[in-house]
Amino acid sequence: MTVHKYPIEWSKDNFSIKIFCSIPNIATGILISTDKNFFVVDPGDGILRDLNKEIGTDKILAISDLFITHGHHDHVGGVWSLLTYMRVMHKKSPLKIHYPEGCVEIESIYNAFLKVYSNTLPYKIYLEKISGTKKLNSKKIVINPFPVIHKEYLHDGITTRQVPALGYKFNYEGIKICYGGDTAYCETLVKMAKGSDLAIIEAGHEEDTPDEMHMTMSEAKSIGKSAKDYYLVHVPE
Ligand SMILES: [Zn+2]
Ligand SMILES: [Zn+2]
Repeated sequence: MTVHKYPIEWSKDNFSIKIFCSIPNIATGILISTDKNFFVVDPGDGILRDLNKEIGTDKILAISDLFITHGHHDHVGGVWSLLTYMRVMHKKSPLKIHYPEGCVEIESIYNAFLKVYSNTLPYKIYLEKISGTKKLNSKKIVINPFPVIHKEYLHDGITTRQVPALGYKFNYEGIKICYGGDTAYCETLVKMAKGSDLAIIEAGHEEDTPDEMHMTMSEAKSIGKSAKDYYLVHVPE
């Protein structure tokens, strides 16, 4: 187990993950790759800079799928620049954006982007709304989305509401990586993380009393330990 010194890199056989950054309220950015294929998970602010340094233009253009856990700015802040870069650099292959049903941030970014660029867009974007836990498949990776508990404050600073939020479990040739996104302690995550080759678990709550937004360090550890290997991320800095 290691806590939050970025970037975090992990790989097994041909399945790799690199977490460029994961700081609550600032930014997240995760690259998942096999030999030839690239997925980006939670493209927060700075993702384009990090991808450019890590894989360069050609491979950025080969990214086939984006996976969004939820619409908070630290998880989607880099979407616009990534989409625009792909346009400027003449991406040809399609891009799928997977996101939880009800995530207005992604739909709004997509609609605004098309409003500006639809006439000059060299690649197709498919919005892939996720409303259940049905497994999906892309580039020989099986992806299992699952709902998590993640709330946010309304502007009175007291009332909270649940945000559409997912975790994802990625399975490539039997190697399983489970990423919970932002979540409070929840049984779905407990179940999905268990036995994974790698679990990436957020420990974003600053105090020891649990709430419904993030997990405490001890909650996060208890879940992480059920996987073969784990990292705690999204720890406030
Ligand atoms: Zn966050
Ligand atoms: Zn969040």
